[in-house]
Amino acid sequence: MSTADKFKKVIAHAKEYGFVFQSSEIYDGLSAVYDYGQNGSELKNNIKRYWLDSMVKLHENIVGIDSAIFMHPTVWKASGHVGAFNDPLIDNKDSKKRYRADVLIEDFVEKINQKINKDIAKAKKRFGDAFNEEEFRSTNGRVIERQKKIDEILNRFKTAMENNDLAEVKQIIIDNGITCPVSGSKNWTDVRQFNLMFDTKLGSVSEDADIIYLRPETAQGIFVNYLNVQKTGRMKLPFGIAQIGKAFRNEIVARQFIFRMREFEQMEMQFFIRPGEEDKWFDYWKDLRMKWHKVLGLGEEKYRFHDHENLAHYAKAATDIEFEFPFGFKELEGIHSRTDFDLSQHQEFSGKKLQYFDPELNESYVPYVIETSIGVDRMFLSVLATAFEEEQIKKENGKTETRTVLRIPPALAPVKAAILPLMKKDGLPEKAREVLNELKYDFNCQYEEKDSIGKRYRRQDAIGTPFCITVDHQTLEDNTVTLRYRDTMEQERVAISKLNSLIDEKVNFKNLFKKIN
Ligand code: ATP
Repeated sequence: MSTADKFKKVIAHAKEYGFVFQSSEIYDGLSAVYDYGQNGSELKNNIKRYWLDSMVKLHENIVGIDSAIFMHPTVWKASGHVGAFNDPLIDNKDSKKRYRADVLIEDFVEKINQKINKDIAKAKKRFGDAFNEEEFRSTNGRVIERQKKIDEILNRFKTAMENNDLAEVKQIIIDNGITCPVSGSKNWTDVRQFNLMFDTKLGSVSEDADIIYLRPETAQGIFVNYLNVQKTGRMKLPFGIAQIGKAFRNEIVARQFIFRMREFEQMEMQFFIRPGEEDKWFDYWKDLRMKWHKVLGLGEEKYRFHDHENLAHYAKAATDIEFEFPFGFKELEGIHSRTDFDLSQHQEFSGKKLQYFDPELNESYVPYVIETSIGVDRMFLSVLATAFEEEQIKKENGKTETRTVLRIPPALAPVKAAILPLMKKDGLPEKAREVLNELKYDFNCQYEEKDSIGKRYRRQDAIGTPFCITVDHQTLEDNTVTLRYRDTMEQERVAISKLNSLIDEKVNFKNLFKKIN
């Protein structure tokens, strides 16, 4: 099955099993806006809890806040979003499709990169253990040529963006013969800048009203509250403020399902530090955030760092944690060394001092900031797309059958356990409800008595429930049940009194946290 086909299946499955619906579907939907269904919202909440707890529970010096979506309009002038939160866009005249010029260029570069990777894979096969990748990269003519081309394009693009030279950005597209993925033509319009912020009006009389923006990131709510939190919480540097909340961007090209949405949710943490310590803390957060991802067990090879060539106006260093989505490696999370840019800007625009008095140094200064920023929805997509599997299994009669299973990390699974009476009689439903009542205070459980046990197992596999608990006649005699594991489909007989600890062992965040702490 091609990755495109698999991705289509994931999207269909997300809808069929109550994970993600298109917004306003009965009105034919609203582009790039989605709703989360009964299972999707559970998964999303678990992701958010995993993130927030890892920040505030595991760090004595990180606290959480919840700031408003609407902010004073000057915030966005200070942050640079009014002037610089633009994407360079370009239209193809034949297909009438609109693209981000930077994405067209990046995709083109990635194609060259893939060719290099193919060359490397081939050589690796040929030379076996003796293969030295570094040496190959620096001596193989074809690879050197391709790498040179990549570097040239990226450097040219970086300079063009720094100089705000949009004609040059178009020229890069022309010179490299980049074509429209839909029409295949090179018939491009000029490149224009497009501001991504949504605006609306505050107040009831629109003529008098001020324009305000729907926040395009949650970070500014943290910056403007940094002194409130520092003072009321008596925080000492270094300390962090974490927040989860909605953000809005009028994305030019909204595609790839929930990867790029116009309304989405971010989990951001700003870590305030002494100037001069930014390199140390940048490395610390890079390392920790990568661990946070990897312990989930989706596959270590699915993550990689991508350092930014084209730094944002405020940044000293920036890297992305990229994940291998069904459509290739793409940004999942950003880690940014933002210097004192934001706080200094707010100090200047508000006229209020935002300095921190450092008792150890006996001096005041504006702290530097390291930021970690991840989209909840992208994280959701990374989990869902990787978890989805169509597995061929051999039945007892020798025939094969397809089992659709979501191998969601148990700690994130929407439903942790399904309690299933084998039959709808002989007191089995009553006994099963007793089991449910034991477990429901600790875990999100489902009770199901309709259809054959096999069908019920399949339905739970399809939503990623790690445990199925079957209550049968033996249960009435000895208080044991059949515990079935989602991933292996193995079954074992266990005492009802053991269920809680068995499930907890697999689904409690604690065991993941211990691996990263
Ligand atoms: P991209 O280059 O993909 O547009 P970005 O660099 O603009 O992303 P940031 O401003 O660094 O993204 O935002 C931090 C995180 O928020 C991203 O890593 C991503 O997970 C998430 N995010 C950003 N834009 C969107 C969006 N339109 N839809 C869903 N998630 C998003």
